[in-house]
Order: sequence, then structure tokens, then C-alpha cells
Amino acid sequence: MDDLVALCKRRGFIFPASEIYGGINGFWDFGPLGVLLKNNLRDRWWNDMVLCPPIGPDGDPLQIQGVDSAIIQNPKAWEASGHVAGFSDPMVDCKLTKLRYRADHLVAVVDERNGQIFAFNQDHLEEKATLKKLKKQAGTDELAKLKVVPFSTIAVADYAKVIGPDTDQKGTLTEPRAFNLMFKTYVGATATEDDVAYLRPETAQGIFLNYKAIVDNMRVRVPFGIAQVGKAFRNEVTPRNFIYRSREFEQMEMEWFCHEDDAAKWFEFWVETRKKWWQSVGVSGDNLIIRTHEQDELSHYAKGGQGTKDIEYRFPFTAPGFGELEGIAHRRNFDLTQHQEFSKTKLEYFDDSVQPPRRFIPHVIEPAAGLTRGVLAILSEAYTVDPSRPSGVYLKFKPSMAPVKAAVLPLTNKDGQPEIAQKLYYSLRTKFVTEYDTKGNIGKRDARHDELGTPFGVSMDGEKAKDDAATIRHCETMEQERVALDKIE
Ligand code: ATP
Repeated sequence: MDDLVALCKRRGFIFPASEIYGGINGFWDFGPLGVLLKNNLRDRWWNDMVLCPPIGPDGDPLQIQGVDSAIIQNPKAWEASGHVAGFSDPMVDCKLTKLRYRADHLVAVVDERNGQIFAFNQDHLEEKATLKKLKKQAGTDELAKLKVVPFSTIAVADYAKVIGPDTDQKGTLTEPRAFNLMFKTYVGATATEDDVAYLRPETAQGIFLNYKAIVDNMRVRVPFGIAQVGKAFRNEVTPRNFIYRSREFEQMEMEWFCHEDDAAKWFEFWVETRKKWWQSVGVSGDNLIIRTHEQDELSHYAKGGQGTKDIEYRFPFTAPGFGELEGIAHRRNFDLTQHQEFSKTKLEYFDDSVQPPRRFIPHVIEPAAGLTRGVLAILSEAYTVDPSRPSGVYLKFKPSMAPVKAAVLPLTNKDGQPEIAQKLYYSLRTKFVTEYDTKGNIGKRDARHDELGTPFGVSMDGEKAKDDAATIRHCETMEQERVALDKIE
């Protein structure tokens, strides 16, 4: 992971936000290469959802409308959605070190011989330093005598016996407190409590708020979808793992409105469709799995329906485990019912395609993907160590995702090469993101483009004057191929 983060900085993919001020925890900036990659992924999603949606199980193309809703909405919307009351993580503080932990990310290691309890971040449990500390404090090499349980199973009365993750002392951890993840702000000049508003913690609610306008104005029939890509903000207790868990990130969400009777069919359809989609952008193989949520981890809205399935990816820091990339949830008709009640606006759908006609509040299947996390998955999957190259590493993107598609690399200043190379570049740049690169020797230039993941390097040499051709170097295989200039495009 450290190598990937270093490459991302060195090659202009992702920089820490406010770096010259020492950064700001949980925020990242996309550099010139990163924004190209992110836009490629976003545009592909938009194309495959909105511009050219999938063919449905009945053989007809699905109807999906795109929106781009405001980030700040009427705060009542967040009361209706349950975010004001419930969108929180349980948080534990260490009174001694002032460090803060997410209680649901902690595990307790219980020494059954003396009742001693050690708390650790679940991600760190396998780390050497952790094991060393455990052995030392437990005074034993027999780690088998230690029992690992979720931290939530420890009774508050026993906290006095708990040694926190970053201390040697007992009883320094506080009781878990709910910490609301929404960023608060004030709308207007007076900034009183009446003016409180929130930055959206998910793009989904902006879709529900536009549901009525779309049904009334856009000639759609249930089942149909509304899709949106955009920023979401969560004041995460412990942002970490690069752009995996940040406080500002982008989501790609689609709410699929259907009749309750069809929810099971659509749930399966979307799980399959979304998994194939991730494979099509290069996140594939054994690193991609589908995980079904246990009953006790379901969100309030997903209880009692088809549940939730996550598409998970084996990120470098979760391996051999997996981390969520996208969640597909059956939100039932929870959100629309809540908004109907809180806004006093009828959100029922009138369906006269059946006899007798019926009124109902549609159920929703929601594929909710992280665009930012998707970029990290694609980068992780593309990152390939190869000692046979000068760079020692290259990015193996699907060419459609690669930020730069081609590099035109004239080798010398002679034989009219620059002119020919420029002519080729002028024509390629109108069709593909193309770089004209003359800096340094060809080995250095190849190494740079290996690290950018540029699929094709086109070099000109003296030979070309004779046969009107150039050499294409394929990034992935390093194969060289002689191609006529007018065939290169
Ligand atoms: P997690 O369990 O990892 O906190 P979540 O289940 O709360 O995620 P959802 O509310 O389902 O996430 O959001 C949908 C998608 O948004 C996630 O699958 C993930 O890709 C992305 N996402 C959520 N939180 C973050 C974050 N803090 N940073 C980056 N991406 C995020």
C-alpha cells in the first residue's frame, strides 16, 4: 500500500489535501492523472446506467434518469431519512492518550486465566507489534489461551480491566458514545440553531427528493431508476487507508423503483449486473466477491426485505480479507414513506397498467457504489511489480480506464522525425488523451509511461523514413510492433 501511495504522488494521481499546510486528515486531492482516471470510471458508470442502461430480464432496455441534486437540502429531509437521529458510529476515547476509536472496529482479546482484557483495532490484530505486546503483557507465548471477541460484547462494568490499543494502563477507555457523522453548517447570515443544515452524507436522498418531480414530469413508468454521481461527506471517526475511508468522497448511486412483488427479481438482477460491471472495468478475478449481510448488520431500512449484498474487493490493506466497494440494498419503501410523512406530500404511484389499477409506494433496490473507492480498487488491481522493467512496476489498466491512452515519443531530432511525430500527435489528440513526450532518453520515457499505465507508446526512429511506419510498444507485454503511420489510430 505504501508503494502505491508513493506512486500516486510521484506520478500525479493523488495528493494529500492542503499538503503545504501539513495536510488535513481524511481529505485528498486528485492530481492531473487521478482526475482523468476518476472521470473515466465515472463516465463509464454514467454511460452504463443513464445513457445506455442495461437490458432488463424481460429483454427491454431499462429506463434510468440522471439527476444532479444539491449537496445541501432542507434539513427536514435528514430527519425523515433517519440520518439526524441514527447516522452515527459508536466511538470510544482513551482518556490517557486522547486517541479515539470506532467501537465496532475494535476487538477484545481476553486472557481467560486472569480476566485481563486487551483492546485492539481489528485491522492491527495480525501485526507483529501487536502480537509482541500481547505476548509481553499476557506474559505468555501461548496465545491460544487468549480469546478474541468483538469489543461490543465487553460489559461496561468490565472496562476497568481493559487495556486500550495504545497504552499499557488499564481502565483508560470511555464508554462508547454515538457520534453523528454528518457535517453541520449554517445557511444564511444569522447562524442560529434554526439555520443548521447538513452536507449530504449520501447522494441517495437527493434522488428520493426528486422522485416526485421525475414521476410527474418525465413520462416514466415503474419500474424505473434515478441515478446520481456526486460528493458525499462523512465526519468519519477514523479516516484511514488512503482514499478508502475519507471524509469527503464521491458516490455513484442509483435508486431502482419497483413494485414490492418484483423486488426479489430486481435485487438479484442488480447484484449480478453490478458485479459484471466491476469486472468490465478491470476489477476481477479472485479479488472480487459478493458478501451477504448478516441480519444483525442490516441498516434500519433494509430489515425484513431482500437484505443487502456487498460487492467487496481484496484491497492491499484488507488482504487476505475484503473491503466494501459497493452495497446493493433493498431499501423497501422506507425512504419514500418517510418523506411522504415528513413533507405531507403524496408520493404514491398510480399504476393503471394492471386491472384493477393500483396505488402504492414503490420499493427500492439501490446499487450504491463508491467512485473514490472504485479508483482505489482499480489502482490496486493495476499495480503490478515487474523487476524486468526499469521502473520495476507498471500499472496494468484496462485501456478504457487508462488516464493517458497513448504517448508519442520521437527518438531523435533528425530525419524529419519531430515533424512526423507531431503530425501523428495532432491527429491522435483529437480522439484520445495523448501525450507528446520528448523529455529524457527513451528508457526513462518508457518507465514513466509504465507507471502512468499508458497502454501504447509510439516511437519514431530513423527507420520510419523508409517505410512510413512507427513502433508501438504495448505497456502490458512490452511487445514491440511495427505499424504503418496511417493505421496507428
Ligand atoms: P463502510 O461500511 O465502509 O463505512 P457504508 O456501508 O457506510 O461503508 P454506504 O453507506 O453503503 O457505505 O455507501 C456506499 C458506498 O460509498 C460504499 O460502498 C463505499 O464505496 C462508499 N463510501 C462510504 N463511506 C466512504 C468513505 N468514508 N470514504 C470513501 N468511500 C466511502
